[in-house]
Amino acid sequence: MRFWLHEIPLSSQSLSVRVAEELHKAVIILEDSGVESAAVNAQWLMAHVLGCNRPELGFRQGSTLTAEQKSQWNQLVAERARRIPLQHLIGSVEFCGFELVVNKHVLVPRPETEILAEEACKFAKMRESPVILDIGTGSGCLAIAIAAQSPKGAVHALDISQEALKLAQGNANRNGLSERIIFHETDMREGCPIEEALDLIVSNPPYIPTAEIDTLQEEVREHDPRLALDGGEDGLDYYHSLTMNYLRHLKPQGRLMLEVGDGQAQKVSDLIIKYGGCVLDILSDLNNVERIVVASPGNS
Ligand code: GLN
Repeated sequence: MRFWLHEIPLSSQSLSVRVAEELHKAVIILEDSGVESAAVNAQWLMAHVLGCNRPELGFRQGSTLTAEQKSQWNQLVAERARRIPLQHLIGSVEFCGFELVVNKHVLVPRPETEILAEEACKFAKMRESPVILDIGTGSGCLAIAIAAQSPKGAVHALDISQEALKLAQGNANRNGLSERIIFHETDMREGCPIEEALDLIVSNPPYIPTAEIDTLQEEVREHDPRLALDGGEDGLDYYHSLTMNYLRHLKPQGRLMLEVGDGQAQKVSDLIIKYGGCVLDILSDLNNVERIVVASPGNS
């Protein structure tokens, strides 16, 4: 028999509520609401309520929830069933080993962006005192991962959203990197705010074609900021600006590293070539989608 949480008979609500049973009920609710990986989602939420790690849940299956925990749990499961992203509910996400706070003002960092971060860190580590720019920093994930790996680097991060920058600054602070990253509130399309020549530019710009946004998963469509998703009619709006206005700010041996949407790698490469750049590599993600384009400003 299936119960919605608010339909559970009072008699059983007043009994001790055991973790294992609550998890079991939540999985059914989340599955019925179309949440992918319902069991894993329920476990993350329960670990959040109990203040433990997900692996530790195995030892807590027989524990009971206090009334306060039970009410928090009910609310979290109901919110997740309304397709509010898991990361918004637990408040943070891990990116390249850093814990980052996320909210509705920023894109939830994705695993594919870690590929960009790793490639960027590899390059930054080889330079003496690199000057680095992260365009459209959002939660600050790329700037933070790169700054940590490049102790002598100067990292700049820009975003048009004041709310995103506030969050990114908090994330840098939380990870002991606030002195290492300079944040700029600016529209990237208005040109590069940094005067000096750059060693590395990274960006995960909005790249979803406008008409496709309505076809995305509800969590993304309704809760990631449209500002961070919408790349215009063909999804390529920001790549025009990134290639036309930013390639020339790189030092001759510098690098431009861009995350791109499914099927965009070739078109973005064409733009890079059009503006005099040279495509050095295209990296695929775990789903074998060409995801990261690595370029230099000339024929270096
Ligand atoms: N990777 C995100 C998604 O596919 C989109 C991010 C972006 O537009 N940069 O949902």
